[in-house]
Amino acid sequence: MPTKTAGQSAKKLVSVQRNAAHHWVGDGFPVRTLLTYAELGARISPFLLLDHAGPMEFPPTQKRLGVGEHPHRGFETVTIIYAGEVEHRDSGGGGGCIGPGDVQWMTAASGVVHEELHGRNFARHGGMLEMVQLWVNLPAKDKMSPPHYQSITSDRIPTVHLAGGHGSVRVIAGEFGGHAGPARTFTPVHVWDLRLASEQSFDLAVPDGYPVALVVLKGSVRVNGCETIGAAEVGLFDRAGGHLCIDSAHDATALLLCGEPIDEPIVGSGPFVMNTAEEIRQAQADYQSGKMGHLPSRG
Ligand code: MN
Repeated sequence: MPTKTAGQSAKKLVSVQRNAAHHWVGDGFPVRTLLTYAELGARISPFLLLDHAGPMEFPPTQKRLGVGEHPHRGFETVTIIYAGEVEHRDSGGGGGCIGPGDVQWMTAASGVVHEELHGRNFARHGGMLEMVQLWVNLPAKDKMSPPHYQSITSDRIPTVHLAGGHGSVRVIAGEFGGHAGPARTFTPVHVWDLRLASEQSFDLAVPDGYPVALVVLKGSVRVNGCETIGAAEVGLFDRAGGHLCIDSAHDATALLLCGEPIDEPIVGSGPFVMNTAEEIRQAQADYQSGKMGHLPSRG
C-alpha cells in the first residue's frame, strides 16, 4: 500500500509578492522588480533579484537603447528573452546577441564591466521587448572566482511536455522529468520556463527541501484550491513538499525558481553583492581603479 511521504505532499503557498511600480534601467529596459533580497533576504536564496522588463513596444530607431558600461561582482546575471533582442559585451571577453527563447548566463564573480543594449537589428525594425533578468548568488568561496559567460541558445534547452496536456517545461538550469538543463551553476539551482494552460487540476513535481518561487509573467495560475497568482506576481512556497498543486492555469507563462539556499550573510550595494561591508568597499575601489576592466571602444 502506498504511504504518504513528505515528498508527496504539496508545498504550501507562503505569500504572493506584487510590485506595480515600474522604473527604467538605462533608457532601454522598463522593469518591475518582482523579487529582491533587499526586501526578502534569505527567503529567496540562492536568488537575489528578479526584474521583469516589458512587455513594451519600441518604435524603430537608429539609437542604441539600453544600459551602458557598468560593473557587477559577487553573483551571476541570467537574462532570459521572451520578445525582442538584447546585445551584450563584457570586459571578460563575453558577448553576443540573443533573441526569443535564448538565455545568457553571465558569471560576474570577481568582477566584470558590461553593457546591455537592444539588438541592432531589433532596434532598426522596432517591436515588442520582453525579458527577465535574474541575479543568482554565489557562495562566499566562489565570489572571487574568474568571470565566465554562457550563451545558451534556445535549441540547447530541452522542452518537457507535461502529461495530460497541461503544458510544457523548458529546463534552463537544473533538472525536470529526467531532462537536465544546459546552464552550469555553482550550487544546485533549477530554472524552468513554464507554459501552462489547463482547466483541470494537476500536480507539478518540484524538489522537496527547497523554497520555490513561481513567477507568473503572463496569464494566471490558481494554486492550493484558492489563491490566484496573476501576471507580474510571484508565489513563494514552503521548503517542504514535493509538488505544487495547480488547480488551473490560464494561458500562463511563468518561471519556476528554486535551489539550495546559501546560508551566508548578504551585503549588497547597487551592482555588488558580497558577504561584508568591507568587501563592498573593496568592490567599489576595485571598480574605480579599473580592476574590473573596461569595454573596448565601439568601432
Ligand atoms: Mn548589468
